[in-house]
Amino acid sequence: MILVPGRSALVAQADVTGARPGCSFCPDGAEAPSARVALFESRHPMVQAMGGRARHHVLVYGDEHGQRLADVPLTDVVALLDTAGKQTTTLFDDPGVLAVYAFESVGDHFGPTVAHPHGQIIGLDFVPRRLLLLADACLLCATGSDDLIVQTTPGTYLRVAPWARLPFEMVLYPRRHLGRLADATATELLELAEQIQTGLALCRDSTGRNHPYLLNIMQAPRRNDGHQHHLRVEIVPLHKPDGNLKRPGAMEIGLGVYLNPVEPRNAAALLRERLAR
Ligand SMILES: [Zn+2]
Ligand SMILES: [Zn+2]
Repeated sequence: MILVPGRSALVAQADVTGARPGCSFCPDGAEAPSARVALFESRHPMVQAMGGRARHHVLVYGDEHGQRLADVPLTDVVALLDTAGKQTTTLFDDPGVLAVYAFESVGDHFGPTVAHPHGQIIGLDFVPRRLLLLADACLLCATGSDDLIVQTTPGTYLRVAPWARLPFEMVLYPRRHLGRLADATATELLELAEQIQTGLALCRDSTGRNHPYLLNIMQAPRRNDGHQHHLRVEIVPLHKPDGNLKRPGAMEIGLGVYLNPVEPRNAAALLRERLAR
């Protein structure tokens, strides 16, 4: 738990497509970035700067308010991964940072305080449990050809997550056992970016509507001794096959145990079928 009393007064901005009332990051806005992907210090940091070093940045991307990662040119997604990788290295230069979390949360469900397309990257002074989940044996390296695979490229996999908490939760990762984005080659970054766009397009296609999703970039924490952290990107769409949103219930909030109504291999078959259309 992180206490953020400073964020209590924040007003969520509607995560609408098209409209951009006074958006400072749009091309005619006061803070319009000069590049397709740009890093800004968060105005409402979830974690405070230490020793003059900010630990929470916003990654603004694209130049159209209504677009999201599935819509922008592939090169923007590559640039986003590249920028996140470099910022991760910068954050780890701060000895107090033990883990880095980069993510994009899309949809009103998340109460966005910035409506323009953006991701976020945060340096944490602790290692969250989910960054240690695949610790003992690398579950991802053990993957061969299996019925959870949605799409492969020469250097990457896109699969329904074996641990899927929500029906269409996917994980994509390089075949090589890498810890962080900065360890990936340019080709691997490109293929990861392709898989991100495929996964997000599949989420959208599954009901023909824009649904809230969370995209997590899970990189090796600082002390990785004995842990086999394999870089992965998680795509967590919040909808169920009927198009309704999955809301956390008693088991989820009470125990942290997710009830998933869809067998991961059935979800994968459904996604492969959509991809083939
Ligand atoms: Zn905008
Ligand atoms: Zn591995």
